[in-house]
Amino acid sequence: MSKLTIVPDWHKDETLYSWAAAFHAIYGNRSARTTGLTLFGASHACKERDAPRDLHHFVQVTGDSLGTIEQLLRQRTRAGQYLLFANPERQSLVHAAIRSGAAVGWRVMLGMAASGLDPLSRLRYCPVCAKEDQQVVDLPRWRWTHQLLGNWICTAHQRPLVEVDLLRYEWELPADQHTTPSSKALSSNDLHALTHISQLSVNIASCDRLDIAEVRQLAFSQLRERGVTGWGHPLSQDRLASWFQASELSRWLARHDGPPSGLADGKWIYRLLRSRSGDHPLKWLLFWSSLEHDTPAEVVARRMVSPSMEPHWDIDGQGAIWATTPNRLPQSFARQLSDGVSIRSLVEGMQGSARSVRTAASENFGCAPRALKDKQRSQLHLEQARAALNTFIGDHPGCTRNDVLQRCKAQTEWLRRRHPDELERLLPPPARTTSRQRVLF
Ligand SMILES: [Zn+2]
Repeated sequence: MSKLTIVPDWHKDETLYSWAAAFHAIYGNRSARTTGLTLFGASHACKERDAPRDLHHFVQVTGDSLGTIEQLLRQRTRAGQYLLFANPERQSLVHAAIRSGAAVGWRVMLGMAASGLDPLSRLRYCPVCAKEDQQVVDLPRWRWTHQLLGNWICTAHQRPLVEVDLLRYEWELPADQHTTPSSKALSSNDLHALTHISQLSVNIASCDRLDIAEVRQLAFSQLRERGVTGWGHPLSQDRLASWFQASELSRWLARHDGPPSGLADGKWIYRLLRSRSGDHPLKWLLFWSSLEHDTPAEVVARRMVSPSMEPHWDIDGQGAIWATTPNRLPQSFARQLSDGVSIRSLVEGMQGSARSVRTAASENFGCAPRALKDKQRSQLHLEQARAALNTFIGDHPGCTRNDVLQRCKAQTEWLRRRHPDELERLLPPPARTTSRQRVLF
């Protein structure tokens, strides 16, 4: 394959499809098939409006000047949003596929098609933005931010985006021939809710990485803090659904004309929180934007990207950095467990039910209470044994191994069984029992 003689630069935040459509309009001069073959080595590349299969081909013909495959996916397509929210296993698959240089069905690999929430043919634009582009560069563009999940309005012009279904196999740009439905008036509540989720979506999509397991932990903490769920009752599907149904976003989704309207009932939230795998980016965005609609979107995004940097309040009202407490448990919970109390006394202390405490410990935090307790006790013992040995050795300079073994019997016996390497490290070196061999000759 030969490199393109002219590689136009990106026009601001245009998508990969938009770049290719502009290339087709200016330099194509031939059929959509020819442009597809030139840019992506596939005659029907224009069908894949998000990320065509052979991005390796595209990177080669553009001589790397427009970015790597990962940069294209992350910054120029909606597939990047799915990659960000994918679980580690799926991310590894995608990175292996990127390294292989082979043509890959990104949509299928990232679960975009399976969700049914994100039709391939659907693109969005703002007529006012398109007109501005036309005046400046003579060509409107498909803006990346407008294509991102959770974006239904143009935040610059505070009006709904026009959603179009491109059903022809062509390279198309936003244009007047796309029928523009009369935009429904937005109430100020709609406008606030839609602006919030749009800003959250863009802020998140621009970040480097997300740890979906951390995001899930943070969700539990925030739900408890806001009283949607609590230690006193297990996470309930009905409770979560009715909480979401009361939100502005749910009311707006119910009126929306498109697949996401099926999410208005909020019944998906329970599974989203319980599932160990990643889930649809739109669901996470709807969840967070509803939960924290009164917090600026940049703050919510920062919290999702670096949950461990956000202080949380435990049930004693003490500020705690969630991620630094053992197993991410609230400090008081962890303390009570390590103090050796039973689940029953723990339940009484927290005024919850045994079932919800067990569920919280074993499901939310990925460990059974007994295993956690054993682990925490073991850690405590190790620290105590280490401190006892160090104190004894510090108080008795020149003491031998035997002195330590005899005088700190309980600790050394425990260390010998559980952490023999640590015992060896702590004890003084063995005394020489034989004299140095003489030189014989
Ligand atoms: Zn606009």
